[in-house]
Amino acid sequence: MSVEAPPKPVILTGDRTTGPLHLGHYAGSLRNRVALQHSHRQSLLLADAQALTDNAHDPARIARNVIEVATDYLAVGIDPAVTTICVQSALPALAELTQLYLNFVTVARLERNPTIKDEIQARGLGRDIPAGFLCYPAAQAADITAFRATLVPVGEDQAPLIEQTNEIVRRLNRQVGHDLLPEARALIPEVGRLPGVDGKAKMSKSGGNAVPLSASDAEIDAAVQRMYTDPGHLRASDPGKVEGNVVFTYLDAFDPDPEAVAALKAHYRRGGLGDAALKRRLAGVLRDLLGPIRERRAEIARDPDRVMDVLRTGTARARAVTAATRDAVQEALGLFRL
Ligand code: ATP
Ligand code: MG
Repeated sequence: MSVEAPPKPVILTGDRTTGPLHLGHYAGSLRNRVALQHSHRQSLLLADAQALTDNAHDPARIARNVIEVATDYLAVGIDPAVTTICVQSALPALAELTQLYLNFVTVARLERNPTIKDEIQARGLGRDIPAGFLCYPAAQAADITAFRATLVPVGEDQAPLIEQTNEIVRRLNRQVGHDLLPEARALIPEVGRLPGVDGKAKMSKSGGNAVPLSASDAEIDAAVQRMYTDPGHLRASDPGKVEGNVVFTYLDAFDPDPEAVAALKAHYRRGGLGDAALKRRLAGVLRDLLGPIRERRAEIARDPDRVMDVLRTGTARARAVTAATRDAVQEALGLFRL
């Protein structure tokens, strides 16, 4: 008698194709995705359609970066044999579901979403908000539910979007009278939001404060040099503050030896530990982390056909899954069928 293994839980996450990925992505989501890809059924969405919602003036950049982000995935260890890597704009069922879901959310609710509010402010949009941008939480709900995902490994900034997805799911399920779609849970790592090298709340591709995964040793050193420590820590002998000190935030996120970091923190608080020594350690940690990723990235970039193959195979697989969910939603809603 054969015993069937229980189905693996489903993960869906993705990245806007606005630029190559950076250390914030590594700490916030890539690390989790690599760790979970064998125990879960995982799909990664190259969110080019979403990226257009605030980049319609430069579609060429969004298109170009599809390959860049896919290359980053492969370089950090995403295995296309177990993880489906797919392109959002090539999955029409996602657009169709988005259109349906927009009827299950109000404009007032979209405007209240804390992530949307933060992003409108960070981009200085004021009231000139592209309608597609305001509505992208509904598109994200379409992405997550189309794959029937229950787990979404994301950075902390995305938590309100998962909540909004679940609200749409609950309204839809109520409308159709049964649990048609599952609710999803955000998986947020301890380092929920990595600050930028400028000390701003979030490292972001659009913020000019990122260390890309492809950074050279010299670029890593320059980025670490730019980082704020404790402005009151003028001489090495002065006691220094650890909280809000960007260099310690990065050591917490990336140093493989947390006990050594705890000892450094104690020494820094006591006084006698200079910023130069601290930065030297961080530069070494980041060089060790990014060196092998950079080498794999360069190797993958030499074979663009292979990356295209990965995208074609993954997108074809995703097309079938997402179309099946669209059909199920249309049917459950009782839309007219020809
Ligand atoms: P953009 O500036 O174009 O919005 P981004 O750098 O914010 O780009 P996204 O593609 O919007 O990157 O985010 C993709 C994923 O990476 C999300 O899950 C997000 O939470 C995570 N992420 C992005 N930046 C950080 C960060 N600094 N710390 C932790 N997670 C992050
Ligand atoms: Mg973003």
